[in-house]
Amino acid sequence: MTNNEVDWVDANKPQEGSKILVGLEYLPTPIKTHLRNNMSKRPSIKNVYHVTEILYCLRKAYWKRMGGKNDFDLAGLWNIYRGNTFDKKWSPLFEHNQVTFKSERKHPEFEDLITLTGTLDFIWVDESSLDKVLYDLKMPKNVFYKKQYGAGKFYKGQVQTYLAMAHENGEYTDVHRCRVLMLADDLVIEEVPERPEMLDIMWERTFLFHKSLKDKNPNILRGAEAEWECGERFCPGSVEWRLTCKQYPINEGFPTY
Ligand code: SF4
Repeated sequence: MTNNEVDWVDANKPQEGSKILVGLEYLPTPIKTHLRNNMSKRPSIKNVYHVTEILYCLRKAYWKRMGGKNDFDLAGLWNIYRGNTFDKKWSPLFEHNQVTFKSERKHPEFEDLITLTGTLDFIWVDESSLDKVLYDLKMPKNVFYKKQYGAGKFYKGQVQTYLAMAHENGEYTDVHRCRVLMLADDLVIEEVPERPEMLDIMWERTFLFHKSLKDKNPNILRGAEAEWECGERFCPGSVEWRLTCKQYPINEGFPTY
């Protein structure tokens, strides 16, 4: 062993009297309070639905719409905070950023004009072809599985819906490519095919969600499509809500994508 190796090993030994604390619960209280206070407080507007609430578990969206308190653990709060912070810092680097789209439809069963809305992160060119590409930025905890399996249906559905909404409105008609950019300890980008029918699928889900709110009946909604969604990190419902929710059968006939 050389002298240098001995130094390196010693440098990593805890010093006498030192203590190692591991876990988000050891964050200083002002930072924990900041994470809680900075949860995006997007107002719930009657008859206006966001693509991100329609893509994921709709019972979860129902819980939030009915005034359910966010019950995220610290890891969940940190996930959301990290994503929101980088969205705010990096999107403005692009000329076309944070563009909000709206799609409006009526359903014969309801009198209301219903709006579906969503906001793209940014548009940038593919640097080899110079094609314009719609990007969505994601900051997952890690990209280990993303390297093998890519973005997953929720992330993909989101960019596909934004592109379909833009085209329905006659906007960005020169954009036909979309990508999910996932950054953690490494970078993974998935190029996702354009899928115009995604907007109709989102509308089917939106109308059923609207009906469940009107009838105050979450049980017509399909439960989570991925098991991880039901964990306390991703489902804001209370412990009681999550337990009750599991007693209702998953509505397999619900429109999925
Ligand atoms: S427990 Fe699962 S199915 Fe129920 S609202 Fe939460 S994520 Fe959805």
